[in-house]
Amino acid sequence: MPAAYHVLQEGMAGPKVRSTVTLVLDGDHVIVIDPGMAPSQAAILDPLRSHGLEPADVTDVVISHHHPDHTVNIGLFGDARVHDYWATYHHDTWTSRSAEGFQVSPSVVTWLTPGHTREDITTILRTENDVIAFTHLWWTAEGPEIDPRATDQTQIEEGRSRVLAEATLIVPGHGAPFRTPDST
Ligand SMILES: [Zn+2]
Ligand SMILES: [Zn+2]
Repeated sequence: MPAAYHVLQEGMAGPKVRSTVTLVLDGDHVIVIDPGMAPSQAAILDPLRSHGLEPADVTDVVISHHHPDHTVNIGLFGDARVHDYWATYHHDTWTSRSAEGFQVSPSVVTWLTPGHTREDITTILRTENDVIAFTHLWWTAEGPEIDPRATDQTQIEEGRSRVLAEATLIVPGHGAPFRTPDST
């Protein structure tokens, strides 16, 4: 089956705070990106189950960065490998590595894209027709252009340029997926 992604929860930045939670299916890998704040754990698990998957089926969790709104529900997937900017964590094994070019699965790679925090990464999924970027470089399609929480806005601009050079679709940290300007 070709690699595919499904938004489990569309994020929002206000008035409530919800992370965009995404499921990526790639070969044997069942990947959840940013299992963070949600109205309930069922708001993440019910959509997962609608794809015929139980929490124990999730093999990998990727977190875009360390803020709790993107991480509070990692524990739903206690047997998954957890990937962040500098390591992979699995049960009681901590494996240090860079996220730059880290291959999570055959079609999924991570890039270091700091700026919102020093620990931000972007997850890239290549499908037959699209290059999809799961990233907090954008909160939503509508902005904010200047990240009010940025540790380094210049790095955010650099990260956005890098992502826009390849991605056809952005799945932002707190909003619905959107097409990039150069893609149709
Ligand atoms: Zn954040
Ligand atoms: Zn956030």
